[in-house]
Amino acid sequence: MTPEKEAEYEAALQVALDAGAKVLAEGGSAMDAIKAAIIPMEDSALFNAGKGAVFTWDGTNELDSSIMDGRDRSAGAVAGVKTVKNPILLADTVRTQSEHVMLMGAGAEAFAAEKGFAVTPPEYFATPARREALERMKAEPLSALDVDHKFGTVGAVALDQNGNLAAGTSTGGMTGKRWGRVGDAPVIGAGTYADNRACAVSATGWGEYFLRVGVAHEICARLRMEREEKRGAIEWEASRAVNEANPGNITYTHVRSINLPSQSAQDAADDVMDDVASLGGDGGVILVTPEGHAIFSFNTSGMYRGRATSEGVREVAIFGGEDQASATPDH
Ligand code: ASP
Repeated sequence: MTPEKEAEYEAALQVALDAGAKVLAEGGSAMDAIKAAIIPMEDSALFNAGKGAVFTWDGTNELDSSIMDGRDRSAGAVAGVKTVKNPILLADTVRTQSEHVMLMGAGAEAFAAEKGFAVTPPEYFATPARREALERMKAEPLSALDVDHKFGTVGAVALDQNGNLAAGTSTGGMTGKRWGRVGDAPVIGAGTYADNRACAVSATGWGEYFLRVGVAHEICARLRMEREEKRGAIEWEASRAVNEANPGNITYTHVRSINLPSQSAQDAADDVMDDVASLGGDGGVILVTPEGHAIFSFNTSGMYRGRATSEGVREVAIFGGEDQASATPDH
């Protein structure tokens, strides 16, 4: 990557980060914040989502996206859409205005038309760099991993002032995908998951492996169970103390706010990413917990990322070791 390109990516990440952070600072919802962050990345030709999406084998751009609200675990997703400028908004409309979670292809586009989405001409999404990547892949026996610049999918996770979590992901998938291939990004539980009791996760990487591991849900499940276990232990102790003071009179004290340390989130993310690596996959995740721990883990050489907190942290980074949090060990 040239210094100029690096600066371009960092500036684009900053725009997305600022857009999301502004919503949260003004008291907006986590759901609105992630949409505000994802839209400029879908609109930027730099990322593999919306404009700038990778090409399928047949030379088209087919977009996948999903979104989830941690408050009620409502979720929406679209796969293989070709004429929707901002697939994250269509995914959200599936969530809020249909009784379904996932729509695909022509059906998703018919739904979009019914809900008033403009038809964006397919040429809008096509960029010379991504076309060249497809041509290179066809000319030389290269895998999508070699040509995709690992990987360029966009995603955002957020915690708002009311303690609600949200996650969203948007992608063009992998260069040269065929036969209606759908990756992890639009699959709730694989590429995206949000649960106020656990965390919000968005993933990027070799989708087949993230699907097999169920990455986003797996990380959330680990944190949910850890929190439950901790709560169980505290409640047990409390009820025992009450029982000792008043024998025969068991009263349960419910402890509702159980805080997990940042390391719990880091360990859950690292362990699940190690599991992806053990199967042969690579990529990364971003997540945020109800305590506000904003964590990432990846086993590629870099992952475009940014982080903003109400304490004033504002950082964007591309490669490993550029900020205080760590990449997965051994990679
Ligand atoms: N996870 C996406 C997919 O497999 C690709 C990416 O993250 O760039 O479709």
